[in-house]
Amino acid sequence: MVQGTLYIVSAPSGAGKSSLIQALLKTQPLYDTQVSISHTTRPIRPGEKHGEHYFFVSVEQFERMIEEHAFLEHARVFGNYYGTSCETITQTLSTGVDVFLDIDWQGAQQIRQRMPLARSIFILPPSKEELSRRLRGRGQDSEGVITQRMAQAVAEMTHYAEYDYLIVNDDFNTALMDLKTIIRAEKLRLERQKLRHYALITKLMAD
Ligand code: 5GP
Repeated sequence: MVQGTLYIVSAPSGAGKSSLIQALLKTQPLYDTQVSISHTTRPIRPGEKHGEHYFFVSVEQFERMIEEHAFLEHARVFGNYYGTSCETITQTLSTGVDVFLDIDWQGAQQIRQRMPLARSIFILPPSKEELSRRLRGRGQDSEGVITQRMAQAVAEMTHYAEYDYLIVNDDFNTALMDLKTIIRAEKLRLERQKLRHYALITKLMAD
């Protein structure tokens, strides 16, 4: 069985990361691609479901999980804890399924250290103006909140060069195709193809 690939996807809020991952999942069968559901201590937002968007837990529960080494990575993002639990990820990868982690740059650094075969993708918005428009488009927030979100977005973007791949999400369909191309290319890497086509290669090389 060829191991699945662990993909880290990071982006500033407003770059369209979640929409891209959701669109990708719709086109891939479940036995091929899954997205990891993180734990967080941030309050649940309207429309979100426990166990679907996140596992929403208390600070006490989260800190207990840290002590029990239950996380592959965890970080504080905008004042709340977020973490990827080890459970299921290694098991899912071993069945050949690719797993996507929608995490921030701090989590990405920890995963790279622990799982050097993971591939990382950073998504940028096409311009600052468009990013600002997307952040504003989300609701009735005050100028202060928008300014704070812009500053957080810029802070996240400064880490783009730590990633293996960079996608600029100007046209959504093009960005989605870029994402699929990365996954396809990773599947075609020599080490993977050698394992996948072992029988064929053995036959072809036989006298
Ligand atoms: P939100 O609260 O808007 O869903 O997510 C805020 C930020 O936390 C996003 O940048 C998201 O990628 C990041 N995030 C979500 N889950 C995790 C996680 O498990 N670990 C880390 N390090 N960051 C996460």
